[in-house]
Amino acid sequence: CGIIGVTGIGPAVPRLIDSLKRLEYRGYDSAGVAALVDGRIERRRAKGKIRELEAVLMQEPLEATVGIGHTRWATHGAPTTANAHPHKAGRVTLVHNGIIENFAELKADLIAGGSDFESQTDTEVVAHLMNRELERHNDPLAAFKVVLDQLTGAYALAVLIEGENELILGARRGSPLVVGWGEGEMYLGSDALAVGPFTQKISYLEEGDFVALDRSGARMFDASGAPADRAIVQVSASS
Ligand code: GLU
Repeated sequence: CGIIGVTGIGPAVPRLIDSLKRLEYRGYDSAGVAALVDGRIERRRAKGKIRELEAVLMQEPLEATVGIGHTRWATHGAPTTANAHPHKAGRVTLVHNGIIENFAELKADLIAGGSDFESQTDTEVVAHLMNRELERHNDPLAAFKVVLDQLTGAYALAVLIEGENELILGARRGSPLVVGWGEGEMYLGSDALAVGPFTQKISYLEEGDFVALDRSGARMFDASGAPADRAIVQVSASS
């Protein structure tokens, strides 16, 4: 029910956790983070409260400057650690808020093509689709657009790709998502509150928008794939 992404220079994971705590008010049943560690994407997930995730991270810390985090309100698949986000397929790891309405058809097609699923979520199909499209397109944004065009339903997404070190892809349709502008760092979040500890400079993505972030900035596109300049607005620190 909440999303946060950080690509920058400082330690990412403590900030992902800080942000997830600010998203707790939305309600959730499990939480997780993924981060880029020595070129590999690693995940930590837990059923229950953020403090359960923190306990997992105490046992198995993640030192990283790029990462994504999620609080889940289960819609498809029980609230278990295996169904907790981030979900992973090949090079792709992602988090999702919303519901992929056509996931059953997409999943049947992916399974017929040899994909192995490890969760009962609707979300995992998006990771497999993206991994498959990355094999067909050199450009992650081109692959992402092809994937988004196959989805029906509602989503806010944040995506990490192995081999694309600083990159975080984001997209929204039916669920909110904002870009936060920092100094040498960029953020993605469900709302201004999620990125509030790091920046008050926000771009609100519009319906159907998708975005590529690295630590130097954001490239934003509308639903048709045309470049879109969404205004940077200053929100008050208390919001
Ligand atoms: N539909 C997804 C799931 O059940 C995402 C739920 C959410 O918005 O947290 O895993």
